Amino acid sequence: MKAPGLVLNILLCLCLWLTTAVAPCLAAGEQPLSFGSSALLEGLWTPAELAGSAADRIIGAVGQPDPSLPPAQPEGSPSEFALPPVRPELRGVIRRVDVDRVRVRSGRRVVAITFDLCERANNVAGYNDQIINLLRAKGLKATFFAGGKWMRSHPEQAMQLMADPRFELGSHTWTHGNLALMDQAQIRAQMQPTQVQYALLRQELARRAEARALSAHMVQVPRALRLMRLPYGRSSQLALEELAQSGYPVIQWDVEGERDEEENAPAILARRALAGIRPGSIVLLHANAVPQKSFDILERLVKGLRQRGYALVTVSELLRLGKVETVADGYFTVPGDNLKYDAIFPGKGTLKPDTSRPYTTVPVP
Ligand SMILES: [Zn+2]
Repeated sequence: MKAPGLVLNILLCLCLWLTTAVAPCLAAGEQPLSFGSSALLEGLWTPAELAGSAADRIIGAVGQPDPSLPPAQPEGSPSEFALPPVRPELRGVIRRVDVDRVRVRSGRRVVAITFDLCERANNVAGYNDQIINLLRAKGLKATFFAGGKWMRSHPEQAMQLMADPRFELGSHTWTHGNLALMDQAQIRAQMQPTQVQYALLRQELARRAEARALSAHMVQVPRALRLMRLPYGRSSQLALEELAQSGYPVIQWDVEGERDEEENAPAILARRALAGIRPGSIVLLHANAVPQKSFDILERLVKGLRQRGYALVTVSELLRLGKVETVADGYFTVPGDNLKYDAIFPGKGTLKPDTSRPYTTVPVP
């Protein structure tokens, strides 16, 4: 039966084409990147625990603002988690990377798909199990920008993402603060607790790893969040300076995957995103179950990217593959299109505006 064998071979090649790691050639002084360990992921959770369920997608009703901070301070000195200031070439709001093909060892086109895990002060967002399961099933790399409060309300899922070698985590502030409206102390009050929450969860991960004789793998889990994404894409000169000094490259996107999702079918949204993707693009999606079509868009994007010969990389990998393209003031699709959020979301962006109505919840089959 030669024909089915040939078909299988072609399918396997296509699959490998999309999933094979695209390791950048290392420049002098660059350390290899690692984001987690399969041994940790598979040693600490069962497949059923990793798979989650539709219940993970349920979003809590809007309630009173929760001003509380992480439940403890991490062990060790704060200097252990401190990041060096951002290098000059990575300052500004990064939209995409002008990829130097020579640096991509395989010569393939690369793109970074990113997912925000936003959570404001007066709501609890969800976790889209379908998205993570699809990425894991296909062995695809991705970057997640997690709110600190989201990590506190989703500790198991946050630790699973931390442990997964395919996934990079970055900061999305503590309660989705609009940094454009904040002074330096307020910006720090959004960034520092998020890093503390990450460190607390990493310590819990280390405790569990030790109990299973897996401690040696913890070296592959980054000690701190090393990237950040601006809530609403909003910043100020003060915020960019503070973030650069605190060590966070600011990662935006040049392709918005869910724009006008209420009015458009996933096929249209995916087609539009695919039309905008170029080598070195950074794509914005959400994995917090707030936009409702993210999974359906992702499924189509993955298929379309495979057909176009793309490989997925994490954002930190992408940053090593060329020169970053930056703007001074972030936006969604056209400059100024996010200024409206300064007025829509009160509490300097940390609150869901209408407290009389809950979020739409996802039905559990
Ligand atoms: Zn967000």
